[in-house]
Amino acid sequence: MKCIFCGNSESKVVDSRYLKDTSIRRRRECLSCGKRFTTYETVETNPMVVTNVDNVREPFKIEKLTESIKYATYCVDLARPVEEIASSIETKLFALQKQEISTQDIVRIALDVLMEMSSMACLVYYTQHTNCSNFEDVRRFLNR
Ligand SMILES: [Zn+2]
Repeated sequence: MKCIFCGNSESKVVDSRYLKDTSIRRRRECLSCGKRFTTYETVETNPMVVTNVDNVREPFKIEKLTESIKYATYCVDLARPVEEIASSIETKLFALQKQEISTQDIVRIALDVLMEMSSMACLVYYTQHTNCSNFEDVRRFLNR
């Protein structure tokens, strides 16, 4: 957030006040010129909707994604924290610019991201989230 007086991008929050449950007002002080200005933060009220294989629609939840990544990587040494991985998957999902995404979209992107880090995590995630029911499927996936 750039200072409206001098354009400096660093400021500190001197006061925060909730306006409603989804909105917050922050009083900021510029670290360069010391002047104060006010910003408003509002929760995105138009979240992505996830449609699963049974056509059930539910709002996208990063917590759920984080849990599934945590599960798939519990036996793997990762270079990045799970939350960061989930967040980069979320960013890629937002980049699709679709209001409605499918669970397949999530799985596909999660696999792409996990593949860069660990094929083991990728495999565990794959078996958890697809209809893969036998070793042939897994082998086909690994040879892809
Ligand atoms: Zn300033």
